[in-house]
Amino acid sequence: MTPGIVLALHFGKKHKMVSVEPAGRLPPGAAAADRRHGVACPFPEEKHPMLRRVLATAVVGALLALPAAAQTYPNRPITIVVPFSAGGPTDTVTRLVAEAMSRDLGQSVVVENVGGAGGTLGAARVAAARPDGYMLLLHHIGMATTPTLYRRLPYDAVDGFETIGLVTEVPMTIIATPRFPAANLAEAIAVIRRDRDKINLANAGIGAASHLCGLLFQTALGVQITTVPYRGTAPAVSDLIAGTVDLLCDQTTNTTEQIRGHTVKAFAVTTSQRLASLPEIPTASEAGLPGFQVTVWHGMYAPRGTPRPILDRLSQALQTALRDERLIARFADLGTAPVPQEQATPDFHRAFWQADIAKWRPIIQAAGAYAD
Ligand code: ASP
Repeated sequence: MTPGIVLALHFGKKHKMVSVEPAGRLPPGAAAADRRHGVACPFPEEKHPMLRRVLATAVVGALLALPAAAQTYPNRPITIVVPFSAGGPTDTVTRLVAEAMSRDLGQSVVVENVGGAGGTLGAARVAAARPDGYMLLLHHIGMATTPTLYRRLPYDAVDGFETIGLVTEVPMTIIATPRFPAANLAEAIAVIRRDRDKINLANAGIGAASHLCGLLFQTALGVQITTVPYRGTAPAVSDLIAGTVDLLCDQTTNTTEQIRGHTVKAFAVTTSQRLASLPEIPTASEAGLPGFQVTVWHGMYAPRGTPRPILDRLSQALQTALRDERLIARFADLGTAPVPQEQATPDFHRAFWQADIAKWRPIIQAAGAYAD
C-alpha cells in the first residue's frame, strides 16, 4: 500500500455533561474545585451538592474502570459488521481475519452482514454501537468516499469511528456475463460503445468499490450505462453468471474462483502488473485502457470513544492475524496480501484514511456525483 502522509492525529473528545479543559480556560464563575482540577461542571456545588457527588463518583469510577476493562478484554464474543452481503469480497476478507484474530483473542469473533446503501447502513450500525470493543466494522475505500458522496448520513462519517488498523489492498477485475459478445477488453469496449442503451453494469451501491471502479470505467470510455445496485457483489456475481446483468468491476477476492472456473468472462485486472494468481488475465493498460488502475484498501474500525487500550489490543490481534500463514496463503490465492505490520495500527490507519477522504473530496465534488 502506498503510504499516505503519516501524522498522529488526535481528535478532541467531548463529554456530554463534564468537559475537561486546561485550567486557565475555565469560565470565570467556575467553582474553586473546578479550577483546581481543570473541570468545568454545569452544576454549581451550592445548588446541586448530591448531584455533584454522584457525578464525581461516576467520573472517578469510569477512570478507574478503564484499565480493568482493557485488562479483561475481551471476555465475550466480538462482532465484526461487514457492510455488504455474505460471500462477497469484504465478507471473504473479514471472515479470514476474524478467524485468525479469534485465535489470538481467545474469544469467538462473529461476522454479521449488514448490507445496503453502499455500505452506509452497516457503518451506521457500528457508529451507534457501545464503544466497548465488542462491535467492530470492517470496511473498505468506501469509508473515504462516502463522507463526500452522501450529504445526509445518519452518523458522523468522518469522526464517528476509532481506527484499529489497515488490513489489505485488493486489486479489481473487469468481468462480464459468460454470454457477453466479446472475447477481450477491446472488443467489449466496442460493444459497450455501440449498445450503451442495452448494456448494464452491476455494483454494490453508491460508494462501494464496484461503484467507484464502474464510474472510472465509464469515464474512461466516455459513455454512461445503466447501473444496477445490489447489497453486495456476491449476489451481483450470481446474476452475472445467470446473465441477468452484463458487466461488473469487482475485487479479486470475489472473482478469482469464478474467473478460474470460467463461469464469468474476465477482460482485465486493474493493477499495473499482471497478478500471479490470474497470470493469463491482461492488465487494463495492456488490454486497451492505458493507466486504468484501481485497488481497494480495507480497514478495521470501532465506535468513537472506544478506549485506546482496547484499540491497541485489537490492533495487536489484527497484526498477529495478518502474520498467520494460512491467511497469507489464502490472500495470495485470491490476488491480495496483508498490509505491512506497521500499517495495521490505529495511528497509521487514521492518517491514511483522513488523507484519502481529502484526496477523494475534490474529485467527487468536481464530478457532482452525490448519492443524495
Ligand atoms: N466491497 C464490494 C464492493 O464495494 C461489495 C461487497 O463486499 O460485497 O463492491
